[in-house]
Amino acid sequence: MPRLMTAPHPLLVALNDAQRAAVSAPLAPTLVLAGAGSGKTRVLTHRAAWLIEEQGVAPQGLLAVTFTNKAASEMRGRIESLLHMPSGALWIGTFHGIAHRLLRRHWRESGLPQHFQILDDDDQQRLVRKLLKEQNLDEQRWVPREVQGFINREKDEGRRPKHLQDRGDPTRRELIRLYDLYQRRCDQLGVVDFAELLLRSYEVIRDQPQLADFYRHRFRHVLVDEFQDTNSVQYDWIKLVCGKSGTPFVVGDDDQSIYRWRGARVENMQHFRRDFGATVFKLEQNYRSTGVILGAANEVIRRNEDRLGKELWTEAAGGEPIRLYAAFNERDEADFVIERIREHARSGRPLAAAAVLYRSNAQSRSFEEALMAARIPYRVYGGLRFFERAEIKDALAYLRLTQNRSDDVSFERVVNLPTRGIGQSTLDRLRETARAGGTSLWNAAQALLPVLPARAATALNGFIGLIDRLASGIGGLELHEQVRRVIEDSGLREHHAKEKDTRGEARVENLDELVNAAEGFTPEVEDELPLLASFLAHATLESGETQAAEGRDCVQLMTLHSAKGLEFPTVFMVGMEEGLFPSERSVFDPEKLPEERRLCYVGITRAMQRLYLSHAESRRIYGRTEYRAPSRFLAELPAALVEEVRPRLSVSRPLYDPSTRHGGPRRHTAGPEVATAVAPARRQAAKGEELPIRLGARVRHPKFGEGVVLRYEGNGDTQQVQVNFENAGQKWLMYAYAKLEAV
Ligand code: ATP
Ligand code: MG
Repeated sequence: MPRLMTAPHPLLVALNDAQRAAVSAPLAPTLVLAGAGSGKTRVLTHRAAWLIEEQGVAPQGLLAVTFTNKAASEMRGRIESLLHMPSGALWIGTFHGIAHRLLRRHWRESGLPQHFQILDDDDQQRLVRKLLKEQNLDEQRWVPREVQGFINREKDEGRRPKHLQDRGDPTRRELIRLYDLYQRRCDQLGVVDFAELLLRSYEVIRDQPQLADFYRHRFRHVLVDEFQDTNSVQYDWIKLVCGKSGTPFVVGDDDQSIYRWRGARVENMQHFRRDFGATVFKLEQNYRSTGVILGAANEVIRRNEDRLGKELWTEAAGGEPIRLYAAFNERDEADFVIERIREHARSGRPLAAAAVLYRSNAQSRSFEEALMAARIPYRVYGGLRFFERAEIKDALAYLRLTQNRSDDVSFERVVNLPTRGIGQSTLDRLRETARAGGTSLWNAAQALLPVLPARAATALNGFIGLIDRLASGIGGLELHEQVRRVIEDSGLREHHAKEKDTRGEARVENLDELVNAAEGFTPEVEDELPLLASFLAHATLESGETQAAEGRDCVQLMTLHSAKGLEFPTVFMVGMEEGLFPSERSVFDPEKLPEERRLCYVGITRAMQRLYLSHAESRRIYGRTEYRAPSRFLAELPAALVEEVRPRLSVSRPLYDPSTRHGGPRRHTAGPEVATAVAPARRQAAKGEELPIRLGARVRHPKFGEGVVLRYEGNGDTQQVQVNFENAGQKWLMYAYAKLEAV
């Protein structure tokens, strides 16, 4: 103690006073509430080290929960370097990772088979689809994604079918019935989806007093990062594991809550304060961004209501202005980004210091293409998930079957891949027999073999024999050899090698990369599973978080959501358009819009020194060309902090000017403060794609009255325009017949 009075403890040296106070706070429930880049994650990491070194807490008494596996491994690294020792005994992971670990340890108590498999999003949807088919339900009416969403939402809230009432609503009744059927099927197959991992691990601790006692005793110190994005089950899970005597230490920022759509409850921050009587610490100094960037972020988020309210300041006053680029289309936007990345690299900065952030995964493609063409290495986080690629999932399905023959999802996936003459009718019979006998497809196949027509029986028998041979053949091999053998002997490699196009090549490369992944795989500590089983679990859990070769310096591409908690010297926020960001569904939804704004705040605050924003006038996305107005968030930025990037090309012919047709002056503005540049020469290139009336213009319609032009779709005679009418609401009209007049 006296040491604290005089010079700070060595662990506390690199912290400011507020951070220091939080790190060395008494062992009691604590909430650190602070804005972006104020050192919350730093405080959490130091707290872990502080507990171990100063409070004598055994590393295994700590449980640290982060949001991504990447963040977890970073935290482990940071704690190790603070403590100068390996932190193997420490439990650090995501909620899902930790729940998975608990279920592996307590599979029996959880009512699961020892080698249960994890269903990822895609597998889950497949299973739902299969059930719908079995129930003869029309997919148009019962959209698989929506049924899946219903099931996951209920699980995230901790509800089983028996807790749900249909309230006299037949649709709801059917959804509840499907949830029930789905869960029974999962239990029968021994598979666990992501939401189930959490709910099940919660239930097993709740229902087994000796387990609750054990973990409460063990994990006195639960640390949670990004607490604002916990959902109900996660919060209940924390309450359960901490019990009355635990001292949870959680950090978060209500302004960065961006997963409401996945069940996150920002209210948990207030509940935590109340339920645990937590002491609250606030941090106000931002260490990440320049004054300009922070000023812009503060100004945007200020427009949200119901904030807990925090101030953020930085010593790094000033800084480069935020650069805003109005691109002609998505290719022009990508070219702009590439050019700036080249500039960035020329000045000697690593490529990894630049990140391109977008609202939806589909947007990565145009940047990937441009980067590839420019031969600039890049990595996509999220989007093109390595472990989600079809060929990888095929290989994993073979591997899974060698472990668990009753894995129907895997069975269906590869029974006829590469094609081996197992036709639809054989498959239907298999499914029918499995359903009637309440058994797996594998068992059904054995039963059917003697009665199938000779040709079908031979084909099916070939598959069964193959799996059995693979299973016995790989025993005793090293993990990566097992993977290699399965890829070869299953015929997958050859199948893709035969494909003529470059996609086949890429698939073979991916399969080879899977062997590499297996070679570099080290299982989680304390994991007593066979190596292959833990590799398969890892593949499911970890999908998406790493991609291209690790360790190579490359540009980072990711969605705004997956950028949470990260920071980059140079950030590009692209696709800043109404209907894209904010997303289509949130534009007119007062509930969803604030979350989009928080997402914008998250994006801006990832930037340390340089921030580029861009939008495109026309964009090909989801297979159509769309014209969208610049994002409202651009208009919310203080004009003084923004510099428009003027096109370098000069005008080579007069601008197409809609004012000649409609009388309004051509002003292309994002809002009152921000005038966006129009690239004239590029407009010329777009002949035929020009807009009759600019986006955002006020128009009058003979019947619907006055409104604002939101977007266009299509060209020529079939061009449609969407207008938001003051009295009549939003309408899509055929432009050629709409008789719109600019006001
Ligand atoms: P986010 O809300 O985005 O998750 P955060 O609050 O978790 O941000 P950190 O990532 O912990 O913030 O810190 C932001 C940056 O500021 C990091 O680079 C961190 O190392 C640095 N930093 C934090 N506190 C200090 C400090 N006292 N001295 C120097 N650098 C600091
Ligand atoms: Mg953080």
